[in-house]
Amino acid sequence: LFICFSVAMGGSDYLKYKDPKQPLNVRINDLLSRMTLAEKIGQMSQIARENASYDVIKNYSIGSVLSGGGSVPAPKASAETWMNMITVMQKAALSTRLGIPMIYGIDAVHGHNNAYNATIFPHNIGLGAARDPALVKKIGAATALEVRATGIPYAFAPCVAVCRDPRWGRCYESYSEDPKVVEEMTEIIPGLQGDIPANSRKGVPFVAGQRNVAACAKHYVGDGGTYMGINENNTIISPHGLFSIHMPPYYDAIIKGISTVMVSYSSWNGEKMHANHYLVTKFLKGLLHFRGFVITDWEGLDRITSPPHANYSYSIQAGISAGIDMVMIPYAFKEFRDDLTYQVQNNIIPMSRIDDAVRRILRVKFTMGLFENPFPDPSLADQLGKKEHRELAREAVRKSLVLLKNGKSGDSPMLPLPKKTQKILIAGSHADNLGYQCGGWTISWQGLSGNNLTTGTTILNAIQSTVDAETEVIYSENPDSELISSNKFSYAIVVVGEHPYAETDGDNLNLTIPDPGSKVIQNVCSSIKCVVILISGRPLVVEPYIDEMDAFVAAWLPGTEGQGVADVLFGDYGFSGKLPRTWFRSVDQLPMNVGDPHYDPLFPFGFGLTTEPVHAN
Ligand code: BGC
Repeated sequence: LFICFSVAMGGSDYLKYKDPKQPLNVRINDLLSRMTLAEKIGQMSQIARENASYDVIKNYSIGSVLSGGGSVPAPKASAETWMNMITVMQKAALSTRLGIPMIYGIDAVHGHNNAYNATIFPHNIGLGAARDPALVKKIGAATALEVRATGIPYAFAPCVAVCRDPRWGRCYESYSEDPKVVEEMTEIIPGLQGDIPANSRKGVPFVAGQRNVAACAKHYVGDGGTYMGINENNTIISPHGLFSIHMPPYYDAIIKGISTVMVSYSSWNGEKMHANHYLVTKFLKGLLHFRGFVITDWEGLDRITSPPHANYSYSIQAGISAGIDMVMIPYAFKEFRDDLTYQVQNNIIPMSRIDDAVRRILRVKFTMGLFENPFPDPSLADQLGKKEHRELAREAVRKSLVLLKNGKSGDSPMLPLPKKTQKILIAGSHADNLGYQCGGWTISWQGLSGNNLTTGTTILNAIQSTVDAETEVIYSENPDSELISSNKFSYAIVVVGEHPYAETDGDNLNLTIPDPGSKVIQNVCSSIKCVVILISGRPLVVEPYIDEMDAFVAAWLPGTEGQGVADVLFGDYGFSGKLPRTWFRSVDQLPMNVGDPHYDPLFPFGFGLTTEPVHAN
């Protein structure tokens, strides 16, 4: 009776914030009112997995942990290994005075790309070519399930950059140079997070439940517009340009209930985005009504100054005052905590700003049910790399392929290829290389080479299993003239392209086909009827070789399901993809985007030939 009485009166055993029946704001305010400054700053801290020991999480009341780049608990870690790691971290968080669960985040940018055996979907540029919002939504839902299969509730995706210059090393993370296409592709958000209820208020973050994840629109804003495509550089553009080219995807993301927004390393007209009070606080939180939390990029505060960390105290003040809520502070979190504590205690940063940050973080955590369901759900482990998801990825690959040439002028179309023929030569370094096919952000930050990184089907495997049993398939990475002349091939399939890269390492002023790719094209295509399949994160310089090719296909970075390439090549499905970017002739034309004056591309934005399927499915 006493307990009932005490509960009814809101007595000491009863904690309003722990009661899911209480309205969201009541829970947030109740919890916030109990928190010390140290606990608040802990909530604002996101530290690297490598640092997140039980004691650190507990002693610093850490609010979030991340896998940066390709950081994994063990090579080829199983779903169970991931879940066990996260369970220990969560126990540490729940053992703190107030028991606030931590939120674990990871870069799941083309499927759950750090996890061994996960389904790897085409990188965003390929999805921009497929231009199928319903498909992208399904990819979001499948990705969410695979991320949850490892016990993780938060993905740093989607990248909604509008890449205006393919020299940028992150071009493939961008769906398109056209903001309208990127806007359509924000359908991945309701896929990842679930559909927002019809009566939701604009800007309120939403995650449907334990089969969905909190998403993150990144990198706010103008990341794809930097000078010469230099990563993290300056985006020189008028307010009109910024708001009409780079901002539109954020309008959609917010309407679709995005939970978090990551700030860009880049600057806008010389001002670092991490310190931009107008764009973060006034515009995003104010005018756009965004109620989720704003997170920095990796060591984003440090990079407010050049060199990074030069005046950390200033950076903290500038960033937190600009409106940043959660700080990705992989290593220097003690310094961050001590400095921010000092600044709040000395009224350099007002407590109201800290409370705003913590409220937003708690809002996301409460909304997604993290207080009620803080632990991984073992029953989801079998979602990782599951057959249905691989089928979906294969469909995405089929739809992402852009057919740019089909037959030399005067000739009949070369594609689709016959399955039954005498001999086929498969050439090029990218025909049998799963790592190349997946690109950067796959198992390792920069991506990998070879076939052992994870499970999947290479283009060569796919071709072998598609052609007729009597068709002889000969594979040589770099065939010499003797091999070519001593065999009479019906046709050749040349698969070449870029080697994996991520972020700044991918910045490239030349955009040529890496060696020996262009030589393989020339050697093979000058002797045998050939189709060239380019595996790349962006258009490359192909004009010098295009006349030699009988057919040319842009396959982007298709991911683990190489079978999708063979499906279309051999006519089980038709080609339907459209260029999500302008295909330039030479790099001196760059930047060149659809709508520009003096638009003189090799293939214009939106171009793509089609073929009809010739086999019944
Ligand atoms: C990238 C982000 C990524 C973060 C965490 C940064 O280097 O710019 O896109 O989410 O690392 O891995």
